Amino acid sequence: MINIQKYVQAESLEEAYQLNQKRSARILGGMLWLKMSDNTVGTAVDLCRLGLDTIEETEEAFSIGAMTSLRQMELHQGLNRYTRGMAARSLGDIVGVQFRNMATVGGSVWGRFGFSDVLTFLLSLDTWVELYKGGLMPLETFVFLKRDNDLLVRIHIRKKPGVFVYQAMRNQRTDFPVLTCALSCVQGEYRAVIGARPGKAMVLGDEEGLLAEGISQESAQAFAAYAANRTPTGTNLRGSAAYRTHLAEVLLRRNLLELGGMQKWN
Ligand SMILES: Cc1cc2nc3c(=O)[nH]c(=O)nc-3n(C[C@H](O)[C@H](O)[C@H](O)COP(=O)(O)OP(=O)(O)OC[C@H]3O[C@@H](n4cnc5c(N)ncnc54)[C@H](O)[C@@H]3O)c2cc1C
Repeated sequence: MINIQKYVQAESLEEAYQLNQKRSARILGGMLWLKMSDNTVGTAVDLCRLGLDTIEETEEAFSIGAMTSLRQMELHQGLNRYTRGMAARSLGDIVGVQFRNMATVGGSVWGRFGFSDVLTFLLSLDTWVELYKGGLMPLETFVFLKRDNDLLVRIHIRKKPGVFVYQAMRNQRTDFPVLTCALSCVQGEYRAVIGARPGKAMVLGDEEGLLAEGISQESAQAFAAYAANRTPTGTNLRGSAAYRTHLAEVLLRRNLLELGGMQKWN
């Protein structure tokens, strides 16, 4: 059980950052993951008074505060318009509505969880992370950084013309996914993201030009097989490595066919 000795609602990012420099301090998101740990937290730092719970949309980008809930993102019209419904599709199977009303994008991205639908979704977009001290960096870089005592302030998604699709496999509803798979084609560049391998989501491009002539049954099969073979998978209680490799190929092929307008699954 988690034991919190002192709770503070920070008045500024600087105050939150300073409080978080102590090893026993923790930043609070929705606390859904944090509360499951068996830990004593010296100071729990709540960012709830810092106005970080909004999604701002401009012509060029979305700027999403760290305290924005997954449910806000799932329902956001602009985000769904831009991603062609991928926000709702990727986030809508995470546990249940009450859970997604509380889970924050800050906690989800900071956690860098291997099983994360959130990371898989965001990695298929041109997503940047804004850290209080570390500044702006691509999510792809942030995912592999060592955890430190910085603060995640906002997520930025740059709007570039593109198409996006998402599939995940769960053994049963509300469970963690066995495999997640997002696919985007942004300004002609394909980007496949495979997560819950069970390791962290990884990004694969079409370095071999297998999709250079466009998407057909054959090129979809060829790229899906190529990407699945290059994706390290592992075994845990939800599935074996061999099953995950098989799923990666199937979900990616389905995503490609859907992106190419040849099939629709959901
Ligand atoms: C039972 C269960 C099932 C789940 N199933 C899924 C699933 O199927 N798919 C999926 O994608 N996710 C799933 N998740 C993860 C969930 O969606 C959230 O990602 C997770 O709960 C973290 O979000 P939170 O807001 O609760 O963060 P918290 O638990 O509050 O925080 C998580 C970590 O991030 C740190 N943190 C939080 N905010 C910041 C910040 N702004 N700056 C710096 N550090 C910060 C905290 O100190 C903590 O270390 C599941 C979680 C649980 C508990």
